[in-house]
Amino acid sequence: MSSEGLNHGQNDEVEHHYIRGDVWFDDGNVVLVAEGHSFRVHRGMLIRKSLVFADMFAMAHPRDDGLVEGCPIIPLFDTSKWDVAHMLSAFYDPERYFDTGVRISFDIVSSMLRMGHKYQIASIKDHAIRRLRLHLPPRLQDFSESACDGGPGEKSAIDFRSRHAIAVISLARRFELYDLLPLSFYFCSRLNPQQLAGGYTDEEGIHWSLSDEDRTRCLVGRDTIRGQCTNLYSFVFEGAVSPECSKVGKCRAELVASRTVTFIQLLPRDVRALDDCKWLREEFQLCEDCLEHFESLHFEERKRNWDTLAVTFDLVDVVEWPPVPVLTP
Ligand SMILES: [Zn+2]
Repeated sequence: MSSEGLNHGQNDEVEHHYIRGDVWFDDGNVVLVAEGHSFRVHRGMLIRKSLVFADMFAMAHPRDDGLVEGCPIIPLFDTSKWDVAHMLSAFYDPERYFDTGVRISFDIVSSMLRMGHKYQIASIKDHAIRRLRLHLPPRLQDFSESACDGGPGEKSAIDFRSRHAIAVISLARRFELYDLLPLSFYFCSRLNPQQLAGGYTDEEGIHWSLSDEDRTRCLVGRDTIRGQCTNLYSFVFEGAVSPECSKVGKCRAELVASRTVTFIQLLPRDVRALDDCKWLREEFQLCEDCLEHFESLHFEERKRNWDTLAVTFDLVDVVEWPPVPVLTP
């Protein structure tokens, strides 16, 4: 290793009482310290991954904070030990963080985005954005594949709950990722009043909450979404069968019989104006022509709900929605 430029001598070795962090290499040559926790890592790795660390080590006379086990100490201010641990783990265990087939917690994705920005680590920041766009995609057909509590799909790169949308709204505004806003507001509109009013505290202890203005956006949008949900089931109440229907009497009777079930079981569900209609074949005994007819009507309604998300949540001045062309990364 080389510590040229740091100019520390043996006399700089003073007693420190840092708690040793999970990331610690005996052959490391620099010790990062955050919130009293220390991480012994490799200077070359930090320089290679982060422009901020590269600039820091390029300084002729860096801070002199003494030595730990012969390694110069780099104190990180306004950075939590939790964030540092995940940043370093992403460097040393990339398969866990950079494989979208491995689902990770939303709090880690949030940390990657914030740390990637703060320390100018493009790989981490870009990957966090990629995971967020996989879960909150700009295209309806991709949304159907994503997963959320109560969401329609099974595949997701993030362990995401609706409350996390509160944090995404804050992060999207901070990092100008406006295409994430419409779906985030949609998920927020499904939150219970306590979460909507009070926000939540994440694993790291960061409290996330909506601004008064965004809370109003959610509440006004929720009314619109509820109306859209009713429209998704309107065919039941209109009672008109498919023009191609081969069993008119039976299908009409089924629609009438289904009204009660729809009222009691389906409509009271939380706002899901973007869900697909797998339930239609499961819940209704209709002929194939009617099923296809109503699936087509449902898709048109659902597509309209998707295309108007920015209008629903008063975001037309902030984001072009649906975005064209599809964004990267
Ligand atoms: Zn029919």
